[in-house]
Amino acid sequence: MRINVARSSLPPFEEYCREIRGFWDSRWLTNNGEKVLELESALQTYLGAPHVVLFSNGHLALEAILRVSGLTGEVITTPFTFASTTHALVRLGLTPVFADVRPDTCTLDPEKIETLITPRTTAILPVHVYGHYCDVDAIAAIASRHNLRVIYDAAHTFGGTLGGKSAAAFGDAAMFSFHATKVFHTIEGGAVACQSAELAEKLRLERNFGITGPETTEDVGGNAKMNEFQAAMGLCNLRHLKDELQQRRRVCTLYRARLSGAAGLRLSPEREGDNYAYFPVFFDGPNLSRDEAYARLAAHDIYARKYFYPLTSTFSCYAGRFDPGKTPVAKRLSESVLTLPLYAGLSDEDVNRICELLLEAQ
Ligand SMILES: *Cc1c(COP(=O)(O)O)cnc(C)c1O
Repeated sequence: MRINVARSSLPPFEEYCREIRGFWDSRWLTNNGEKVLELESALQTYLGAPHVVLFSNGHLALEAILRVSGLTGEVITTPFTFASTTHALVRLGLTPVFADVRPDTCTLDPEKIETLITPRTTAILPVHVYGHYCDVDAIAAIASRHNLRVIYDAAHTFGGTLGGKSAAAFGDAAMFSFHATKVFHTIEGGAVACQSAELAEKLRLERNFGITGPETTEDVGGNAKMNEFQAAMGLCNLRHLKDELQQRRRVCTLYRARLSGAAGLRLSPEREGDNYAYFPVFFDGPNLSRDEAYARLAAHDIYARKYFYPLTSTFSCYAGRFDPGKTPVAKRLSESVLTLPLYAGLSDEDVNRICELLLEAQ
């Protein structure tokens, strides 16, 4: 049977039916329905965040927080990320300035940030790649020295912690994605967690056309509201999150036991507070290249993913705009990485089979 890199988790069917019963009867399907309010409140508690604003997806959440933060000019960010991070900046008329990343965690290297700051720089947009937290203290120090905003793309971090804190604790705001392939999902969905009530209020206007009352519209907002079916899925999945994380941990522990120390393979550092979102393997050795490893698994109907490859700075839509030679570490990582299949229902037997295919070829 085909094995994909991810498989969406789902609650028991009857549990979801019970969750949607109330609004099915009342026919209140969107616009601040009770499930959206309930999920926002549950996530505030879970993330330890003063404000959580839900969105129809993570990308629109990111565009919304960038927009209401009133940024202009240049934003320092990473090219080792999903299309969303870079596209959000460009779509808002901001200029991404790419800094290189650390070879171990794949997150922005704080030592590469400061030399890129110019009078036009207004913010830093780092990504907690694979759930590895960025150097949040170093980034906060740079931001405060230069009076910059810090907005985190925390799409990979749900369920993980750093020093006991969730990703909502760092930066001016953090965007989460609840896409179907993420550790916690609402089918499609996303959120911004932020410290300031004023920012949260602006986000609420931004996601609903800037409408402030039946006859008043005070901002040129968009439409990015989460609906009740999405929120109901989130409430169900939140109940099963602990089990989801345990299952993912089982898979990661087995991968690590089988693959660590193998010649030519490098694993991400182990860490406390891991959310087991991805299991990246870096093919750095001379024997088996990343592309060969990918093809070898695919020949057995196993689909790993070159995530993140290519760098966003090399997308054809940005041809000629950026120089990937300026981020050599990110370039090397993107050419050597493969994220292995990882989801709650992946059996030990399948994990062992995947490991054997990779080890045999060494
Ligand atoms: C998934 C993801 C996003 C976008 O989230 P969507 O909910 O799919 O819009 C943004 N950044 C990163 C790093 C992601 O992995």
